[in-house]
Amino acid sequence: MAAEPVRESAWYLTDGLRPHVCDGCGTTVLVKKNSLQHTSVQWQSTTCSRLGPTVAGCPALRDSIERAVRDGTIEVGGDD
Ligand SMILES: [Zn+2]
Repeated sequence: MAAEPVRESAWYLTDGLRPHVCDGCGTTVLVKKNSLQHTSVQWQSTTCSRLGPTVAGCPALRDSIERAVRDGTIEVGGDD
């Protein structure tokens, strides 16, 4: 009857950041694509302790993000 309450993590609501699952390791990171040249990546503390908290730790992540940008999964910039 009543609508189910929507569960959303706080980080999901962070402005401009989109969750992205790395093709290489399956780690979920938050990505904000400010421009084609500028990508912000936030790692979740609970994920992928093996790779560590740096983008450089996963060479597959950058390619994965760029693919998502081409797919339109990740939007670039704020203006239409
Ligand atoms: Zn990865």
